[in-house]
Amino acid sequence: MRTQLDTLVTGALQHGSAVPAFTCYDFTTALAVVAAAEESGRGAILLVAPKTAATPNGLRLITALRGLADAAGVPIAVQLDHAADPQVITDAVSAGADSVLVDGSSLPYEDNIALVQGVRAALAAQGRADVVIEAELGGLAGDEDRAFGTDVAEEPAGLTDSAQVEDFVSRTGAQLLAVAVGNVHGKYKGEPRLRWEVLQDIAVRTRIPLVLHGASGIPAEELVKAAAMNVGKVNFNTELRTGVLALLEEQTTAHRADGENLQALLGHWDASARTFAATALATLSR
Ligand SMILES: [Zn+2]
Repeated sequence: MRTQLDTLVTGALQHGSAVPAFTCYDFTTALAVVAAAEESGRGAILLVAPKTAATPNGLRLITALRGLADAAGVPIAVQLDHAADPQVITDAVSAGADSVLVDGSSLPYEDNIALVQGVRAALAAQGRADVVIEAELGGLAGDEDRAFGTDVAEEPAGLTDSAQVEDFVSRTGAQLLAVAVGNVHGKYKGEPRLRWEVLQDIAVRTRIPLVLHGASGIPAEELVKAAAMNVGKVNFNTELRTGVLALLEEQTTAHRADGENLQALLGHWDASARTFAATALATLSR
């Protein structure tokens, strides 16, 4: 069913839970995520990568996800992830995205604010003031779509500056705030080390829910602690891909031998993504 992303996340936080978000490059994965959410009786978020939304077929995928979300038995949001191009944002919203991560985190501070304000104004002019906006403060190392080992210690300058949080949230009007607290996109080189003191310092300066990107590789017990610090949304991508790619590698030859049995292979894909999503939902639920 349709939901407002901020309402979904705030509601979860009131019970000490967080809502998982899963990158969907394809419809098979999205079906598995929604099935897992329905089985758990909890809401979830379908993330669409900006490279997906930048193509005509990607926009059709968003429309398909919109239909899937609306027909689901639990609240499901469809979010455009990490977008900075106003045209891609407008197109994704027209196609069915109900929330956007407006990502100006690589820009100078004032330009980051101006980007979020500009997108909000453009959406309002489009009659879409209902679209929920997540903004990002602090640069996350790594790549969302391709995972390589990233050493957090190499990027200490990218951490969110908690002194900027109040001003940033009030001027952007962001409804959720993505933070950089030692999390990275892709794979962690060595042990992930979340900076709890930075997260704590951010959490006391704003009431809006915080978002942790790059959760793949962060141990479950750490993720559980994060929810207690107002982290209400946790993004998963790499581990979901790892599971699907590993099983394709393992199963493709046998399924080719079994009469080019793509249907059965897709069944394994579904099971892998569904199990991963179910585990994430259970980990983040109180
Ligand atoms: Zn991200």
